[in-house]
Amino acid sequence: MKILVTGGTGYIGSHTVVELQQKGFEVIIVDALFNSRIEVLDAIEKISGTRPEFESFDLADRRLTDEFFSRHHDIKGIIHFAAHKAVGESVEQPIKYYRNNLDSLMNILESMTKYNIPNLVFSSSCTVYGQPDAEHLPVSEKAPIKKAESPYGNTKQIAEEIISESINAYKGLNAIALRYFNPVGAHDSAMIGELPLGVPNNLMPYITQTAYGIRECLKVFGSDYPTHDGTPIRDYIHIMDLAKAHVVAIERMINAKMKKSFEIFNLGTGTGYSVLDVIKSFEKVSGLKLNYEIVGRRAGDIEMVWADPTFSNDELGWKAERCLDDMTSSAWKWEQTYRKNS
Ligand code: UDP
Repeated sequence: MKILVTGGTGYIGSHTVVELQQKGFEVIIVDALFNSRIEVLDAIEKISGTRPEFESFDLADRRLTDEFFSRHHDIKGIIHFAAHKAVGESVEQPIKYYRNNLDSLMNILESMTKYNIPNLVFSSSCTVYGQPDAEHLPVSEKAPIKKAESPYGNTKQIAEEIISESINAYKGLNAIALRYFNPVGAHDSAMIGELPLGVPNNLMPYITQTAYGIRECLKVFGSDYPTHDGTPIRDYIHIMDLAKAHVVAIERMINAKMKKSFEIFNLGTGTGYSVLDVIKSFEKVSGLKLNYEIVGRRAGDIEMVWADPTFSNDELGWKAERCLDDMTSSAWKWEQTYRKNS
């Protein structure tokens, strides 16, 4: 059974590829390598024993996408990760984000209808909820969608609408959108993990790079939020739990277990942790003292959000199993292993 993973050399994509292979799926990756490295294929092969098929081109190119699908009639499902994801950059270069993230999705949907590929799993995000009102915390799939704070967030909202409308219009198409909370951590082997280019925007790689001495000091953005220690709260989820959820989603589609042709699930643990909670966990598992300072708030940051995962737990039969210490320790092991080998 062949599955196309777009963006399969990226952070979430690479972990999902390994999980798919270990479940017996054949994987073909398409990745333009805009934000990832070809060496990830070697690491995937080392972990799973199988090198996935790989093609490098931009799925936002309609002609190349059509040409690709015309050569691959055996694809039974698509997990679509390939997208730009830097919130700040999306504010500076909105057209880059709309063009890439939406054109690639539309090209894929068009090819799915043309070549009769029925199943799509789409990477969505909890950014669609914005800052939920107090009565919507923890946030379930039924919580209202808020106006997007950035072009990046807007591409996720518009993408869900494009998928929903396409499914209404074209018989035989099915999709599952997975709304991720904050994916962190790395594969147990420490052979794949998060590899941000340049200065990290996200908390976990900033912590591990600071501990390794690549960054001097972690800036904690704000300590005056209405939370137990004043720092913002997120639902951090281990990348391996997240990867497993994608396999469950694609199996649900293939085994015709869907209750409707477009389903949406939250992927989170259901527990929120503050920035200082994450730092404390890191210090505990690493035995190090992290160099950090509290500075002003970062513009656009949400105060607190965490998932109500009840619907995904019940419907998918999936549950995030790994705790915060597993996340910080695997992220730290990955950072050290990667730096030693590069
Ligand atoms: N954060 C921080 N310093 C950093 C990066 C992030 O204090 O260098 C905080 C940020 O303010 C937020 C949390 O860590 O409260 C998670 O941020 P991240 O960018 O990882 O995820 P997102 O904001 O998209 O949920």
